[in-house]
Amino acid sequence: MLSEKKVSKKIKITGIVQGVGFRPFVYNLAKSKNCAGFVINNSVGVIIEIQGNPNNIQDFIDILHTKPPTRSRIDTFQVSELKSNRQFSDFIIKKSVELKNKTVAISPDLNVCDECLHELFDKNNKRYLYPFINCTNCGPRYSIIKDVPYDRPVTTMKNFVMCESCLTEYETPENRRFHAQPNACFSCGPEIILSDNKNINIIRGNNKKDLFRIFQKINEIIRAGKILAIKGIGGFHLACNALDNTAVKNLRTRKIREDKPFAVMFPSIDMVKQYCVTKKEENKLLESYPRPIVLLKKKNNCKIANSVAPHNKFLGSILPYTPIHYILFYFIDFPLVMTSGNISDEPIAFKNSAAKNRLANIADFFLIHNREIHIRNDDSVFRIWKNTPYPLRRSRGYVPNSIILKNKIKFSILACGSEQKNTFGLAKNKQVYISHHIGDLENFETLKAFEQGIDHFKNIFDIEPEIIAYDLHPEYLSTKYALSYAEKNPNGAKIKKIGIQHHHAHAVSCMAENKINEPVIAIILDGTGFGTDSTIWGGEILISEYSGFKRMAHFANVKMPGAKAAVKNPWQMAISYLYEIFGKDLINPEHPFMQSIEPDSLELIIQIIENQINTPITSSCGRLFDAVAAIAGVRNSVNYEGQAAIEFEQYISDNSKTAYNFEIENNGDMQIISWKKMFRQLVSDVKNNISKSQIAGKFHNGLVNILYETVKKISHKTGIKKVVLSGGVFMNLYLLNNLDFILEKNRFKVYTHKSLPTNDGGIALGQIVIANSIIEKENQYGT
Ligand code: ZN
Ligand code: ZN
Ligand code: FE
Repeated sequence: MLSEKKVSKKIKITGIVQGVGFRPFVYNLAKSKNCAGFVINNSVGVIIEIQGNPNNIQDFIDILHTKPPTRSRIDTFQVSELKSNRQFSDFIIKKSVELKNKTVAISPDLNVCDECLHELFDKNNKRYLYPFINCTNCGPRYSIIKDVPYDRPVTTMKNFVMCESCLTEYETPENRRFHAQPNACFSCGPEIILSDNKNINIIRGNNKKDLFRIFQKINEIIRAGKILAIKGIGGFHLACNALDNTAVKNLRTRKIREDKPFAVMFPSIDMVKQYCVTKKEENKLLESYPRPIVLLKKKNNCKIANSVAPHNKFLGSILPYTPIHYILFYFIDFPLVMTSGNISDEPIAFKNSAAKNRLANIADFFLIHNREIHIRNDDSVFRIWKNTPYPLRRSRGYVPNSIILKNKIKFSILACGSEQKNTFGLAKNKQVYISHHIGDLENFETLKAFEQGIDHFKNIFDIEPEIIAYDLHPEYLSTKYALSYAEKNPNGAKIKKIGIQHHHAHAVSCMAENKINEPVIAIILDGTGFGTDSTIWGGEILISEYSGFKRMAHFANVKMPGAKAAVKNPWQMAISYLYEIFGKDLINPEHPFMQSIEPDSLELIIQIIENQINTPITSSCGRLFDAVAAIAGVRNSVNYEGQAAIEFEQYISDNSKTAYNFEIENNGDMQIISWKKMFRQLVSDVKNNISKSQIAGKFHNGLVNILYETVKKISHKTGIKKVVLSGGVFMNLYLLNNLDFILEKNRFKVYTHKSLPTNDGGIALGQIVIANSIIEKENQYGT
């Protein structure tokens, strides 16, 4: 027999190639093509040496490159000749090696795959109803990984020793659990435990019989209106019957969360459709493997309990993603509230002992397990806008995927993010990693989560920052962390600190994810951001570049009587605007809005305004929304940030055409958007009993018109036609839609967020890109 000449190649692959079934895939592919050699994981990705006949090698390369395992992501794919004369006799998977530079991408946590689901409900399978079933294609990843390369000993599965049968699967290359690090079964793996909140009545679920008992009991208690804490992938959830208003109200009272909507988990997309109106893209996103919460419009006759999302036309909906969720719905046939297991503003609980302490007054029962969560990770939240996912919170399922940019980051940078909805970011070697959702840095628990998160990221991505970027706001805990970083870290003294203006960061975040690097007009509408003049900005139009910005226009300033208290009490903001326009007499005391305020409180706020005690100056668009909503009669106080604005938006009917009038005043180069005329019109409409729906429409439309007018002027002056929309106010889809529409219609090119939230959860990316660009410039000019 003629022996055909063999070729040998070396292939280096980076990207998400570990923990997604990559090596078994390579192994099986190589075997099927009669190739020999090996595959190995290292700290930067996967390396393959392969030997075989030329056609087979080419097939192997083509298939691997174009059709890799479904959950992998290839960033680079390098093929080179293998010079050595070495002859391989077989194809093998080699043991992982650790390199000094750890840059391998870690996979996000993955939802249960179809094959595992099938086994989960197959009565003859050894993992029938096993709550921790997984394989190389699915299961926990990011939340259990302590270090890289991804191997069982550096995960929280370390303490579980595989039984013989699991080990055989783990070691058999043809098996779909080959090197599945969290592989486990009833006899060797983690187990669930159900207990009451006094930790007395305990059922352990380490066999099928007890598992049945546990879930039958859960069915009973949920039906009885009780609240169950469930340990999931990235933390605890609090669950109750989403159709039972008393149970939901009870949960609200215990959790100290008055109105902020809860998410609901449905067993299937079919059941989602019974309660919500869904479009094709929304279904697709719900079923996508990161399994985010998707905001869906409730049906008119939606039977979900009122208290789940009060005063809200939308419902945060999510499908099951862990085996435990699926087993739950094997026993329960109605939707469940599934909200973060925390009290009020604290971060989500993720350790058994802490959860039992902190949630004991909320949950009646606990369904916990003994597989430790190493890092907490909340559910992600999206809307669909223009048929595309529009992120409101990017966390579980997406983190820690790196963000792909057009311009490479050259330095090791830590960006500390903002105060609210905090995420931080780390960048090195062309990669940018934005963290999981940390939350509002307002208490000790969240700050601890922030600090621990940074340490974890530094370790798993092996990044020791040379530059630290932070928000200019001196009171943000993230800023204080940045400024004290030098003292706490051994290499801190050499670190360069760069303060970055909040709205500039918003703008550049949106520019960077859209891969644009040229001056743009950035409309940044926001709640709070520290300005370069030490006032609070938040309704800004900037010319933005990576390395700098120019403030071109902003909403007219107003006082915030009581500072933070004015955010909680929109009526205080309303009084402040009215005072600017009408002076001390304000408006007619008979006016419905004035009637809604306690005379004593009113007197106090007027004094505060006049004496300028604790009255920061702001151009915030968020506060403008609050004030208008209060005067319109939506609400005078809020229970969560943005509540007044969110409810106000929902009053608008789709065919709203009329608009209030804002005006532009020139102050030198600066355009000031004046709201005086608008407020006079608003006050008069309210007095004349014009409906909230019409008022909401007129306000939003007026805003769209004036923003468009202002942009047009700036564009005329500068020739810039690219417009970036960012800031928390753009979670308002009516505003986003209409502004986008009018700009695009007039030949502007509009850019909005797609991978990161438009709110402060997206700021860290902007901080990284700006800091990188500033240092690059400095180095260039040798300053
Ligand atoms: Zn699976
Ligand atoms: Zn086992
Ligand atoms: Fe912001």
